Amino acid sequence: MPDPVVTRFAPSPTGHLHVGGARTALFCWALARRAENDGSGGRFVLRIEDTDQARSSDAASAGILEDLAWLGILWDDGPEFSTHQEGRASSPPGVIGGDSRGVGPYYQAQRLDLYNEHIAKLIEADAAYPAFESPDELEAKRKEAIDAKVGYRYDRSALDIPRDERMARLAKGDDHVVRLKMPDEPITVHDQVLGDVTVGPDEFDDFIIRKRDGFPTYHLAVVVDDALMGVTHVLRGQEHLINTPRHIALQRALGFDTPTYAHMPLIFNPDGSKMSKRDKDKAAKKACKDAGVDAPPVASVSGEAFKKWMKDKTRQLPSDQLRELAAAVGVTLPEIDVEDFRRAGYLPGALCNFLALLGWNPKQKTADGKDLETFDNAFLAEHFDLKGIGKGQAKFDRAKLLSFNSDAIGRLDDAEFARVWRDWAGAYDPELVSKLGDDKIALFAGAVKPRCKTLADGRGVVQFALVDDDGYEFDGKAVHKAMLKGDAKGLEMLQTFAGALDAIDPWDAPTIDAAVEAFASEHEVGMGKIAQPIRVAVTGAGVSPPLGVTLAVLGRESVQARIERCLAFAEQA
Ligand code: GLU
Repeated sequence: MPDPVVTRFAPSPTGHLHVGGARTALFCWALARRAENDGSGGRFVLRIEDTDQARSSDAASAGILEDLAWLGILWDDGPEFSTHQEGRASSPPGVIGGDSRGVGPYYQAQRLDLYNEHIAKLIEADAAYPAFESPDELEAKRKEAIDAKVGYRYDRSALDIPRDERMARLAKGDDHVVRLKMPDEPITVHDQVLGDVTVGPDEFDDFIIRKRDGFPTYHLAVVVDDALMGVTHVLRGQEHLINTPRHIALQRALGFDTPTYAHMPLIFNPDGSKMSKRDKDKAAKKACKDAGVDAPPVASVSGEAFKKWMKDKTRQLPSDQLRELAAAVGVTLPEIDVEDFRRAGYLPGALCNFLALLGWNPKQKTADGKDLETFDNAFLAEHFDLKGIGKGQAKFDRAKLLSFNSDAIGRLDDAEFARVWRDWAGAYDPELVSKLGDDKIALFAGAVKPRCKTLADGRGVVQFALVDDDGYEFDGKAVHKAMLKGDAKGLEMLQTFAGALDAIDPWDAPTIDAAVEAFASEHEVGMGKIAQPIRVAVTGAGVSPPLGVTLAVLGRESVQARIERCLAFAEQA
């Protein structure tokens, strides 16, 4: 039987999960599930790389777990997580993660002893060494190299100190870093996507594996963890390819196997720029600049923070401040983080479908001979393979994602739509839930669904039902067209209908629809002469969900009050 496949997603909890990370997680998950489906066994590990203490936060870790679970990318080994939470209709309830193989913990900050053990072994074997130069000394050497226009590489001057002396200073606790002795030979990465990539020994110096603060660097921690967690396949973005020769050198020095590597294409914006987590800040900075905003337009951002942020291209504002600021200057920010797409009303299935196609091609045809593009995570679990990952750039086509989403919404039945819409609103539009309640949301579902590309679009459709009876304006043109044009028959019918409201019983959509039809035939007018005036009267405009639903949701008293207000408006007009 072939060896089980073990993949891992290893985010650094320094911010929200962005779409690039989500794609990596999805591919890692899919490869493990595929192996499991094929019978060789597969495990998907989630490991939180929080060794950069200054930039990591518990809130960011929690957000990443939450977003992965929302996407349906559930891990086998890793932090324990309860999926049974409101707003996550896509995940089966239960607890996922845990440490059944006994290779945890899954937060790197809790694994320092393991890293130090391996670093000690490397030093003992002379494969690594402590280096005592101060940051100032190193900086001066770096500057010298820049001035001389040569690439800076660490010059191994620490090795000029006799070994005994080095070891004594290490034992004494002198301020130091630990560096790996890079071998003096080329290293080849056998990449499953890019083919063989070889780098010569002159491209790397003896890099740091333990920092001055005693924490391992990313390189050391990732190599130790991948080995101890039995990871067989490392899938990650191409930005990490540069690190891989270092990792291979470390694996050799530590006597570990080298896992299979696959580096995935970078994701680009349609304008050709590399998609970046800073794109939102970039858009907001540009909007401020264009509008000549030179002081913070919101109270949550201080004057000094605003100034620094505007000046420094790389600086980011916390996401809630950024959102507030964007609203104040009236700019729509591009969605980048998974949380942005959730908030904007995308369905997890549509987002995963779209992400899977960012660099992977199932190479299958639909029944009518087109390239297969629509599939769910279960399809990925059955068909995902490394062969289907392309070398070329992946383009983030937002229009395509939106159409995936609107198709996915269209495939829901009304009850499912009501559930996901309600869950979404519970998290992102609580006013909608408090004003409509579950019953009216369910009543509206069938009418709202076909008008939604995203769940957020639903609000526009039901806006009339969220305002007070005198809280909306009448569209003068619509009033004219429906009621006043020609012989003003519409107005007369509306007046008459207002007197007949009490007779409608019970007050529900089918009974209302039947009553309006009976009214039209009794008065020998087309539906346009009665349905349209009612619609304009109760919503202010000429388009709304079907009339019966619209009136049923508003309730008899509201309908009465709204028609009366409209009659007064029309008479004045
Ligand atoms: N923590 C690293 C990151 O978030 C992981 C890279 C890797 O997959 O090795 O970029």
